[in-house]
Amino acid sequence: MAEQLNEYAGKATMEKITSLAKRRGFVFQSSEIYGGQNGAWDYGPLGIELKNRIAAAWWKEMTQLHDDIVGLDAAILMHPRTWEASGHVENFTDPLVDCKKCKMRFRADQIPEENLAAKKCPECGGELTDTRKFNLMFKTHIGPAEDTASIIYLRPETAQGIYVNYKNIIQSNRMKIPFGIAQIGKAFRNEIVTKNFIFRTCEFEQMEMQYFVKGGTDEEWFNEWRRRRWAYYEKLGVKMDHLRWHQHGPGELAHYAKDAYDIEYLFPMGWRELEGVHNRTDYDLRRHTEYSGKDMQYIDQDNNSERYIPYIIETSAGLTRNVLMILCDAYDEEQVADKGNDDDWRTVLRFHPSLAPVTVAVLPLMKKDGLAELAQDIRRELKEDFATDYDQAGAIGRRYRRQDEAGTPFCVTVDYQSKEDGTVTLRFRDSMEQIRVPKAELTSRLRQEIKEYKRTK
Ligand code: ATP
Repeated sequence: MAEQLNEYAGKATMEKITSLAKRRGFVFQSSEIYGGQNGAWDYGPLGIELKNRIAAAWWKEMTQLHDDIVGLDAAILMHPRTWEASGHVENFTDPLVDCKKCKMRFRADQIPEENLAAKKCPECGGELTDTRKFNLMFKTHIGPAEDTASIIYLRPETAQGIYVNYKNIIQSNRMKIPFGIAQIGKAFRNEIVTKNFIFRTCEFEQMEMQYFVKGGTDEEWFNEWRRRRWAYYEKLGVKMDHLRWHQHGPGELAHYAKDAYDIEYLFPMGWRELEGVHNRTDYDLRRHTEYSGKDMQYIDQDNNSERYIPYIIETSAGLTRNVLMILCDAYDEEQVADKGNDDDWRTVLRFHPSLAPVTVAVLPLMKKDGLAELAQDIRRELKEDFATDYDQAGAIGRRYRRQDEAGTPFCVTVDYQSKEDGTVTLRFRDSMEQIRVPKAELTSRLRQEIKEYKRTK
């Protein structure tokens, strides 16, 4: 296992990531022309590709590679009783304090204890209010009447959609314990403090998998899922010295949890939670039995129809938080020349090729002499198999830099020799090495490069 870093040593800062994300169309502030909407972000052309690929990698890992896990896409709006049963109406709160002077709001658990004890604002020294509980669920009304009977919540986690469907899935898909249900979808939390770009937002996406096991085997499965989730990030090519485990202490455990570990990533602002692995026991299904009056027991047909409420091991990762992690992890700045000008340095996103928004960019050396047409033909062929880009504007060096900054792992350059012998230049983002390849071999060569990719810097 890689030795963890004590403090952040990478080249990324949140300012650089936020500005690159905007400049290159990864992520924009929501409703920017109106001054922006706090806690909400829009994913631009490169951002949606990156987010989709991260989601696809997780989906493949959790469903395609596991015979015993199936997918689900449940609605965001659920019956309000769901959230009473789950404990969210009562317990999904953060402790809130306000400054009477500067009107800033804080999470009481995120300001120094001495400030809290002295009721002194950490920003302006003004007087703080008493701590009060603040429920993080967004509430709205459904139907034309805005009365208490019409209250509905935006889901604060995707998990409950899985629990209420677990019997449907057992029946329709003949699942046998142990088995899992995976889901990717939006969740909403009225966070008191949203900062650090897309790290903590009010609208975000989760990738959750709930694994149903027999009580008594839960601890074993909990450890197994911890192992698998760690291995997943390793496979994704994440810098492993930037990952660590954090076990929840008794004061941190959620109301449903028996044991919980976070996978933390070393972001530029420090170690922060990326994903949680939780032993949720039989809490949720028991509560749904109680609140719905429906029998949520599993009937073990292979064991004399033994009945029991399963335990649940949950792996819960933020998709949008994973996007931020992958951006920070990939970000690099490198000196590539020493001529004393701006071009000496390049910014490069070292995405794994399977995650990069554009896999291969095709660039004609010149627009004239039929090179542009030839390059367009090559792009058309590559399109069937890869996400491509085409760029014929400006000096070739500048165009490489633009692709480096977008994280494109391969560039194909078409030059005069290409017209003569049918070969093209294949340039590698990380090493900037260039080789000549017959254009007929490009697709198979790229496939092989993607499969065998190992990050070296
Ligand atoms: P925190 O204590 O940081 O508020 P949490 O422990 O409540 O988070 P979980 O309920 O375990 O978080 O959520 C699972 C995952 O969902 C988190 O690991 C994170 O990746 C993601 N997540 C949770 N809240 C947010 C948010 N407000 N914005 C973006 N992602 C989030």
